[in-house]
Order: sequence, then C-alpha cells, then structure tokens
Amino acid sequence: MDWKIHVLYVGDIICPKGVSTFGLDTDLQINGPYLAFLLVSKSKKILVDTGMNSRFIIDGKAWAGLPAKGGEKFLLESLKKNDTQPEEIETVIYTHLHNDHAGNCHLFPNALHVFHYDEWTELQNPLPSMRIRKDFDPDVIPYLKKFRCLRVTGDTEFTEGIHLYHTPGHTIGGLTVGVNTSDGVYVIPGDIINIYQNLFPKMSSMVDITGKRHKITPAPEEYGPLGVPSAILYDHYAWYRSIWKIRGLLKSPKHLLPCHESAICGKTFPGDSIDLDIPE
Ligand SMILES: [Zn+2]
Repeated sequence: MDWKIHVLYVGDIICPKGVSTFGLDTDLQINGPYLAFLLVSKSKKILVDTGMNSRFIIDGKAWAGLPAKGGEKFLLESLKKNDTQPEEIETVIYTHLHNDHAGNCHLFPNALHVFHYDEWTELQNPLPSMRIRKDFDPDVIPYLKKFRCLRVTGDTEFTEGIHLYHTPGHTIGGLTVGVNTSDGVYVIPGDIINIYQNLFPKMSSMVDITGKRHKITPAPEEYGPLGVPSAILYDHYAWYRSIWKIRGLLKSPKHLLPCHESAICGKTFPGDSIDLDIPE
C-alpha cells in the first residue's frame, strides 16, 4: 500500500545548534520546528507524534528555558490545513514519549496509541537527569493508561506499508517509522536524528524555520563517517547501532524526515522537493 506523508508544523523553539549536533556550532541559535507527521492512505489516517502540550510553555519558554511556541492549537491547525479532524485519526504512533512528541495524546481518545514497550517503562520511571530536564510529561500517563495502547517490541510491520524499527539511543524505546510510498520508503527517525547534519556530517549550511540559510561547521574527521550525535543521548552505543540500521533503510538523503528539521516543515512527500546541501 502506498501512503502520502504530510509534515505538520506543531510549534518551534530557538535552540543552540550544539544541542542537535554535539560540539558543533554551540553559539549558533537556530529556530527549528516541532514536527508531527500525518500519514494518509486510501482508507486510513495515521498520526506520528503529537507535539507539545501548551502547559510545558511558561512565559514563552519551554524545555531548558528556551523560547518556544506550541500546544494543541498548533497541531489542530496543521491537521485542519490537511483536511483532517482529530476523530479521523485511527492510530497514533509515537517515535518516543518525550514531552514534545506525546504532549497532545489527549486529543485522540478513540485512537490506538502505539509506542515501544521500553518507552512506557522510561516514561513512568525517568532517571533524575530526565526529571530535572523535564524530558517527559507525566500528565500523559493517565491518558495513555486509559486509551487503547499497543506496546511493541522489536521490529514489525505494524500495518500494510508501515514498518516500525526499534532505534534506541536518544531514549530507550525510540521507534523509527518506515512509510511505503510510490517513491519508495520514507524514514521518520524521531529524535535519534534531529536534523540532516546528524546523518550527513559534512554539511556546511542549513535552513531555519523562516527559510533563512545559515553557515554551519562540517564535522571534523574525528566524528567519523556514521554521523554527528546530538547532545541528548542516553546510550551512545545504541545510538551508533541505530544510525547504522537507519542508513540501511534509506534510499536517498531526501527519503529521511528528521523530527526537528526546518527543510521539511509543512511539506508533503512524495511530491515536494527539499532544499538540501549535502556534499557527495
Ligand atoms: Zn526527544
């Protein structure tokens, strides 16, 4: 079955780029999006991630005290732009359960909610470092306990044309979603890959959410060929293994849809182009 992917803008945050690419461009402030993904086939609508709840934005600041926008109205507006009401979503898949991905699960009481089993454990038992940084939104727990949930383990074809791959590293139970389309498989990796430079270390420019292009530092040789980790990883060994796995799934760089990447915000795939500066 072939699917269409609509990349939904669900808010944005101004954040030092060094958070996304550890040790590179630590002083460069980039305004990047929170994203969700609407997957549409002839008969089904699936949502991947739900953005952040507005409770997490106090005085215009979100995670780590950084200036941000977001909340359920952003998600509802983006769904509406794509002719979709929340009741039409039959399944919500979570790449992981961080606050900016699971925060609006309450909008889908009748959907099936799908995430990795380990992510559920982590959400309920965060480490002190995760609590301090408020990585998880504990208010989603009662909703998810009440809703129909499927906690997957391992890799699986969840429904025709939608594959789920366990890709830990950023969190314990990270999932990467592979979506069959008429142009091959598109890969939604969650925050294991925030932006394209995480997988393409030699990039020398990137766009922010306004479309402005910024010069960025290509990763020095010591980073190695596999990728540039973000500053928010709980298991570096797992991250490199997951990156290896994701590389095996990718038909081309433009089949990758990173979860905080401005270059794909608001676009539809297959169909739209991506303005990417990746050296051969
Ligand atoms: Zn995350």
